[in-house]
Amino acid sequence: MSSPERSVPDGCPGALTTHLAADGPLARIRLPGGVVLPGQMQVLAQAAAALGDGTLELTSRGNMQVRAVSDPDDLARRLADAGLLPSSTHERVRNILASPLSGRAGGLTDVRALVGALDEGLCARPDLAHLPGRTLFALDDGRGDLCGLEPDFGAYAQSDGSYALLLAGRDSGVRVDRDSVVSMLLNCAGAFVELRQSQWRVAEMDDGPARILDRLGLAAGPVLPMPAPVEVPPIGWLDQDDGLVALAAGLANGVLGARLAEFLAAIDRPLIMTPWRSLIVCDLDEEPAEQVVRVLAPMGLIFDAASPWIRVSACTGSPGCEKSLADVRADLSAAVDARMTPRDERQHWSGCERRCGRPKGEVTDVIATGIGYRVS
Ligand code: SF4
Repeated sequence: MSSPERSVPDGCPGALTTHLAADGPLARIRLPGGVVLPGQMQVLAQAAAALGDGTLELTSRGNMQVRAVSDPDDLARRLADAGLLPSSTHERVRNILASPLSGRAGGLTDVRALVGALDEGLCARPDLAHLPGRTLFALDDGRGDLCGLEPDFGAYAQSDGSYALLLAGRDSGVRVDRDSVVSMLLNCAGAFVELRQSQWRVAEMDDGPARILDRLGLAAGPVLPMPAPVEVPPIGWLDQDDGLVALAAGLANGVLGARLAEFLAAIDRPLIMTPWRSLIVCDLDEEPAEQVVRVLAPMGLIFDAASPWIRVSACTGSPGCEKSLADVRADLSAAVDARMTPRDERQHWSGCERRCGRPKGEVTDVIATGIGYRVS
């Protein structure tokens, strides 16, 4: 791939560096591994209600956004008090995905401990504060659910206990033992910081993976084919390996209302935001799990994998994005209500040709033109 000449620095928003969107300042809160503790969800819900537009947006990296922030300093203070802002210098680069069900159901190994170690190591290295806010780390526990998201730096667990080192979403041909996964990913990121010019992603750099390996003196062996991107995320009742239950739920347009978020916090169980803009309530006993479904499904949590919302997504659109030619989310909601979205393919609706938030893999685009929508 040829190197795009970026004329502007990466402007990814953070919790401290908000982006001035058409509907006001937008704050993005990084959640390594997608993990949100109950008390943190309570803080997020209250902040969204008091300082934002009353909603929390889930992102395709398992992060959250608050829109139309009236007092960014107050929001930052609340997030810091809740332990959601451990580093002011590195807050935008803590894009760390982990297989959402790792250690609870399926997978070859439990990568949860690696998330914390990677986050700590990342924040401890001053050079890595210079990563673009778009770079992505991923820890795939062997089920292959994250490989298709094309992480810049990833570790993909193998059945022999080793990890395949992923660079720019592909197997680099380097194998790493578990004890070396974190340092290897950090060193690769450090090499990218040294080598990159205006590029935001490793895939944008000519021979990026090969140059990173060369910089670190690593030799590549045979490479694995990568699993395809996940088409439909886990949804519904999931039996955990320890006998407890996880509930995975979709959300219309990936938007979580503050009141529903408060109810989620009150369940008092760990919550995981997934890169498919869904969420998982973990570690429930059966009876409380049944109650959660009964109470929260009518409030908007989608536990039915056949729901049309599980296969559709939309960019922000109007009124949040000044480039948008339509209120995409409202139009998508109307299409879902009218049963006009297909049941057997994924669709992404966009307010302009940029197609922000488009999922990886086979996706039909529905793009606003100003006089309707074009399907391609
Ligand atoms: S796809 Fe276009 S309209 Fe939608 S959020 Fe991105 S820039 Fe805005």
